[in-house]
This record gives sequence, C-alpha cells and structure tokens, in this order.
Amino acid sequence: MDCLFCKIIEGQIPSKKVFESDTVLAFYDIQPAAPEHVLIIPKKHIPTMNDVTDEDDAVVAEIFAAARQIAAKLGIAESGYRLINNCNKDSGQIVFHLHFHLLGGKKLGPLLN
Ligand code: C5P
Repeated sequence: MDCLFCKIIEGQIPSKKVFESDTVLAFYDIQPAAPEHVLIIPKKHIPTMNDVTDEDDAVVAEIFAAARQIAAKLGIAESGYRLINNCNKDSGQIVFHLHFHLLGGKKLGPLLN
C-alpha cells in the first residue's frame, strides 16, 4: 500500500519517534506548526476519521492515552496543548492515514480561521 505513514511504521521512511506501543506510534512532525508538534497514529491503516469503526475503540483509547503520556513527557501537560484531527479535504488533510496533531509549547492562537 502506498501510504507514507505505513512506510514510517515499517521503518522504510525515518522518523523521530516519541512513543511506540503495539498499536500506536507517535513521532515529530517534519514541518512543526508549534514548538512541540507530534503526530499520533494507529499502526492499523485507517484512512480518515470517517473510517473509524467500533472495532477500533481500543486503538482510539490508546491514541488518547498516548497523547496524555506524550504531553507529560514533553512537559506541556500543565501549560496546555491541542489535539487535532483533520478529516478529508476541507480540513486540509493531506496524509490519508488517521493521525492526531499534538501541538503545544507556546500559547496557541485561535483555532478557527
Ligand atoms: O493533517 P494533515 O494530513 O494535513 O497533516 C499531515 C502532516 O504530516 C503534516 O503536518 C506534515 O508536515 C506531516 N508529515 C510528516 N512527515 C512526512 C510527511 C508529512 O511529519 N514524511
């Protein structure tokens, strides 16, 4: 499958990992939009938020648990952070493998534009 994030999971494309479990991987975004910008992804190939099913409940819970752990590890749990998913073209999704952007390390601007 020609998926960039599947290639990162398989180690064919390098990444700077922050967290890894059997089902979830997190790594630094190559074009950071904040001082801390990590992408959290399921190892299972799920193209978009629309494709998440009840079968994926455990992995979705793991993604949120990973986000909490990563925020604590990066020292931004108390100062605050944002967790964002882009779904399909109007949101600006460019990689069609489910991912959550964890952003922090500064006071973030308004969300909507
Ligand atoms: O949510 P969206 O699909 O727009 O975000 C994809 C993200 O993947 C971008 O922030 C981009 O910088 C990141 N990316 C990456 N490593 C790559 C390719 C894309 O971190 N090799």
